[in-house]
Amino acid sequence: MKYYSTNKKAPLASLQEAVTKGLASDKGLYMPEKIKQLPDSFFEKMKDMSFQEIAYVVADAFFGEDMEADMLKTIVYDTLNFDTPVVHVKNNIYSLELFHGPTLAFKDVGARFMARTLGYFIKKQGLTDINVLVATSGDTGSAVANGFLGVPGVQVFVLYPKGKVSPIQECQFTTLGQNITALEIDGTFDDCQALVKAAFMDEELNQKMQLTSANSINVARFLPQAFYYFYAYAQLAKQGIIEDNRPGSKDNVVFCVPSGNFGNITAGLFGKRMGLPVKRFIAANNKNDIFLKYLQTKEYTPRPSVATLANAMDVGDPSNFVRILDLYNHNHDAISKDISGYRYLDEDIRSTLKKCYEETGYLLDPHGACGYQALVDELKPDETGVFLETAHPAKFLETVESIIGEKVEIPQKLQAFMQGKKQSFELTKDFGGFKAFLLAK
Ligand SMILES: *Cc1c(COP(=O)(O)O)cnc(C)c1O
Repeated sequence: MKYYSTNKKAPLASLQEAVTKGLASDKGLYMPEKIKQLPDSFFEKMKDMSFQEIAYVVADAFFGEDMEADMLKTIVYDTLNFDTPVVHVKNNIYSLELFHGPTLAFKDVGARFMARTLGYFIKKQGLTDINVLVATSGDTGSAVANGFLGVPGVQVFVLYPKGKVSPIQECQFTTLGQNITALEIDGTFDDCQALVKAAFMDEELNQKMQLTSANSINVARFLPQAFYYFYAYAQLAKQGIIEDNRPGSKDNVVFCVPSGNFGNITAGLFGKRMGLPVKRFIAANNKNDIFLKYLQTKEYTPRPSVATLANAMDVGDPSNFVRILDLYNHNHDAISKDISGYRYLDEDIRSTLKKCYEETGYLLDPHGACGYQALVDELKPDETGVFLETAHPAKFLETVESIIGEKVEIPQKLQAFMQGKKQSFELTKDFGGFKAFLLAK
């Protein structure tokens, strides 16, 4: 399968090129040329299939032409060594818990898949070392670092703002060692991102080192996120919550996705194109409501992000927005028909988290709280709502404990990170110093 650029000014790329480059040469995002419709027989069987089996069928539709079947299967099965259960919360509202992976956030799925795919191409093609640069405000760095840990031929550099990442998040990418280097930048998250961008633009650096990015612009990180929409649907059918999971079904399933860069929700939109009978999607935003404004005004106006309690959604110019535009041929009406938008301020996040916990006993994280509340506000009685619970509440310990006024239990996996020894290099936000550091590696 070939990949085209959303800017349409770059040559078509193979999967290998799309994965190793990340961004197309015209700065567009890669899109698969075809989105295959899955057969009715798959939807009929889906409820009796495992997560791994379902994911392999979806992965095969995208990557099957470019990888041997047994290799792709190994990658899918290795990636998904944890479950993503659908859990009832209240009335017709369900949580799709995506936080059972190694770093307790949904990004584990895409990061683990991308790491294995890149490792496969490096081995197969005998490529020289590939350097993954990733700027993080918390969750991306941990998922990418853990996903790529120990993958031969890959060096990962995680740039994070000194003193601005919670200790729990920091330990998940600073204690690993091996091929993971943590760079503590004296600056903000935007400074970290600017350093990564400058590195991709620097001619000398790109001549001497092969650089790529591991954020959701990368197709190998972005597309695998479709897997769990299918599996969620299968679980609803298996639990008898919906009756029919074939295309054309009248079950009215609505997915609500707490969104920042819009990679997660876009993968769901791809799932719908493949035949998954989703009635519609809701994009839940925090105060950074650029997408909601686009729905309301037809104008897309990026602006600097503002800090909120749901900090992984603090994005002022969602990178995957161009993929949504491309998928819908820039048709605002068509986009508005499939996706509605909501936004929640910090005080809403606080009251939702508290109220949901008191009413139902279900503890949300600040991102999931936006998703849950949008379903409470908008879901119709004949609809079944599933929000994506994108991270475990313990990852936002201080915030969550201060809201509910109780201690939150820290899962074993997270505690293990906290016992490791921090290793990081301190750098200023000056590009010259960063470049010299990379070249000396
Ligand atoms: C990254 C992240 C999001 C936003 O996902 P996008 O794919 O960027 O829209 C939401 N919640 C959590 C916990 C995240 O880490």
